[in-house]
Amino acid sequence: MKSHSHAALIIVGHGSTTNPDSSSPTHLHADSIRRRGLFREVVCCFWKEEPNMREVYEMVDSDVIYIVPNFISEGYFCQQVLPRELRLDGPTTHRDGKTIHYCDPVGIHPNMTRLLIQRADEVAPHVPRDQTSLVIVGHGTSLNENSTKAIQDQVALIRAGHYGFAEVIDAYMEEAPFVAEWAKLTTAPNVVVVPFFIADGLHSFQDIPVLLGMREEVGAALSEIGVFHQNPHELQGRQVYYSGAIGTEPLMADVILDQVNDFDAKHQVTDKIGMPNDEVKSSLAFWLNSGLDEIGEIVITTNADGSYSLCHIADRGKEDLQVHHEAHDALFIARNDASGTFRPLHSAPTLNRGWRLDLTDLDELRLALDFFYPAAIGMARALEREKLAAVPLREMLGRQTGMYRFANTITDEQAHAMIGKCCANEKCLRRILWPLTSTQPMANEAASKTQPNHAPNAIPLLCIEACTHVVSAARKIARQNHEANQPKSAD
Ligand code: SF4
Repeated sequence: MKSHSHAALIIVGHGSTTNPDSSSPTHLHADSIRRRGLFREVVCCFWKEEPNMREVYEMVDSDVIYIVPNFISEGYFCQQVLPRELRLDGPTTHRDGKTIHYCDPVGIHPNMTRLLIQRADEVAPHVPRDQTSLVIVGHGTSLNENSTKAIQDQVALIRAGHYGFAEVIDAYMEEAPFVAEWAKLTTAPNVVVVPFFIADGLHSFQDIPVLLGMREEVGAALSEIGVFHQNPHELQGRQVYYSGAIGTEPLMADVILDQVNDFDAKHQVTDKIGMPNDEVKSSLAFWLNSGLDEIGEIVITTNADGSYSLCHIADRGKEDLQVHHEAHDALFIARNDASGTFRPLHSAPTLNRGWRLDLTDLDELRLALDFFYPAAIGMARALEREKLAAVPLREMLGRQTGMYRFANTITDEQAHAMIGKCCANEKCLRRILWPLTSTQPMANEAASKTQPNHAPNAIPLLCIEACTHVVSAARKIARQNHEANQPKSAD
């Protein structure tokens, strides 16, 4: 891999507001690439989690940015949603002095073949390939024909590559050939089943095991990674080996890099390399020197040797804390609240207590803070420079498509009440910077949320665009409006 030490890499994942496993592979691949030092900056952003696709640009200061979608196929998300949210106008976008390259999604790269073979060998070691049927499983739906195409392409590549399997087939949850008919579709005594998904979740934990006959019905007990560790399963006189989603394979990090290399080759990229100034990091250092030592629920202690220690503000001065030493640990500290419930909203005032994070230098500190409060440092810096652009609520709701396309039909009064409720300080510590429209400020219950709400010694948490929770709430209200306006039946 050619070094891109002048550039930032943004990996885009789908994420989830309910399932932490959804974003985990994207974070892990980012960490793997970051440790190789090939890029100046490596960050993630998500459709359903933080940071979102508007905020992520505030996290990097490189002038050249590569974006790789960690998605399985081309189609609705990669061709419409991501370019719209990331404000891209083609393979390469020039904006605000930045050059932004938009690469193909990982799932369509030919090197996915290597991963599928490796995954099959891992899950069924020492099982002869010539007595094995390899089944690659996708969701399958008429809504996205590209997802089946990505799998069909892989099946064709493995067949053409003569890897020695008795047969290689594709199968789907919701369209023919159905995975539920695997026994009729395959002939070998051993069957290896690999879900062609980016992350493990309900489909790989529950739905596919039920369709294969490994489980009789979907149940809570199947929401465990253990379902992949019970191989082989004896089913219908065959030995069935079941693997986790292909996107959890560590080598996916290499496919992300392959997509960057292929982009460079295809578009003959010759970016003029100018090193940026580490401006975000410089701002953080300046604030710490100026006495700002809090952000959200965290207090930052600068130690005499130049290292840093972080803990929950309520744990300041406590000795009996569990000590961590890696910036990446912040991701896991921030993941769940004290009851073990997933925290999709990092700025919710529910950060766990009882930990201390010791970090060697400013780079590690910046990385950890971006895990605790994604993009917060970059946004605070941009605000200070009067360069932070907030998106009015109506504009944000108005660009929604699919099931959220009616979200902008709520009234102004409903919008203010909704923001007052969803964004209350007891639920989110960010300060809203966006108005209702470009000419209408927030009013009523929402007005107070636009005022500074942080301590004088704190770096502020800012909100430049309504998040996925607010969009969902608006959709719910719009739906209730629609139902209330339906004509009543005659009786
Ligand atoms: S929209 Fe509201 S709840 Fe969501 S991040 Fe912004 S302030 Fe917080």
